[in-house]
Amino acid sequence: MGGTKLLAVRIEDGDVVAREFFSTPGEDMIGSAIAAIKELWTDDVTAVGAGIAGLVRFSEGVFVWGPHLPGSNIPIRQILEDEFRVPAVVDNDANAAALAELHHGAARGRRDVLLVTLGTGIGGAIIADGQVYRGSSFAGEWGHMLYQENGLQCDCGKRGCWETVASGPALARLGQEFISLNPEGQLARVLGQGDFTAKTITASADAGDETARGLVSQVGAALGRGLCSLIAVFDPELVVVGGGLGSVGESLLGPARRVAADAIHGGSFRPLPPIVVAELGPESGAIGAALLAAEVRDGHVGAFLN
Ligand SMILES: [Zn+2]
Repeated sequence: MGGTKLLAVRIEDGDVVAREFFSTPGEDMIGSAIAAIKELWTDDVTAVGAGIAGLVRFSEGVFVWGPHLPGSNIPIRQILEDEFRVPAVVDNDANAAALAELHHGAARGRRDVLLVTLGTGIGGAIIADGQVYRGSSFAGEWGHMLYQENGLQCDCGKRGCWETVASGPALARLGQEFISLNPEGQLARVLGQGDFTAKTITASADAGDETARGLVSQVGAALGRGLCSLIAVFDPELVVVGGGLGSVGESLLGPARRVAADAIHGGSFRPLPPIVVAELGPESGAIGAALLAAEVRDGHVGAFLN
C-alpha cells in the first residue's frame, strides 16, 4: 500500500501466480486492500502479509502513521485476521521490498544491504546479517534525515528532509522551476507549461534532452550525498535503489555514485559498495509482504510477534 496505488500478489512456493492493481485516490485504504485480497483469494491461501508506506509497529501489526497515507494507529493485522481467518503480518513497505530483493532480486546472496526506494518520498530498509533490521520499530526512515537546515517543506511537516530534494516530486519541482525561468526554452517546448511529473522529465532525459538530463543528474547528486551518509553509517556490501524514480537507472545512479564516491571519507582507501537498481520493480513490496507472511506461517519470525 503506497500513497497512490495498491498492488497485491498471490504467491505459491515463492512464485507470483496472480496479481491485482488498484489505484487508491480515495480514503478507504484498508477497504481497498481487503477488496484486492478477495480478488486473489483461493481457499488454500494460508497467510496474508501487507506492506505499507509509513511507520509500522511490526510486533503489533499496527500502521502508526505515514505522511502519504490517511489514518493513524490502524490495527491492520487484526483487521486482516478477522476478515480472512488466517495468520497475517504487517510491515513497512520498504522492509517488505528489501526482503523480496534479498530472496529473489538484486540482493540475492548478500547479507548486509541497504534498500533506498525513490517515489513520492524516500523509503528505506536495512538488511543486517541477512535479516531485516527494524530498530525499536521504525528504522530506515532516511527520507526524513535532515538534509538542509531551513530547507524545503516536507510532506511529514518538517523542513529540509532528504526526500524534499531526492524524490519524484523533487524532480518535478526542479523542472517546474527551470521552465518558469526559461519559458521559451527547449524543455518548455517539449513538456509544455502545465503540470508535469518526474516521469515526463525522465522520459525527456531518456530521449536525449540535455536540460532534462541535467535536472535528473541534479537529483542524482542529491541522492548521492544522502547515500554517502548512509554508507558511512552502515558500511553495506550493496545498496539497492528501487521505487518509480529509482528505476530510471544510470542517468540518476551515475551522478549519485560519482558524488558519493567523491564525498565518502577515506575514499582513496575504501571501495564504494555497488549501487544498483532493484530488480523486482513495483511488485517488490507486495512480493516481500507475501514472503514475510509465509515466514510467519512457518514460525520463522514468530518470535518477533506478540
Ligand atoms: Zn520529512
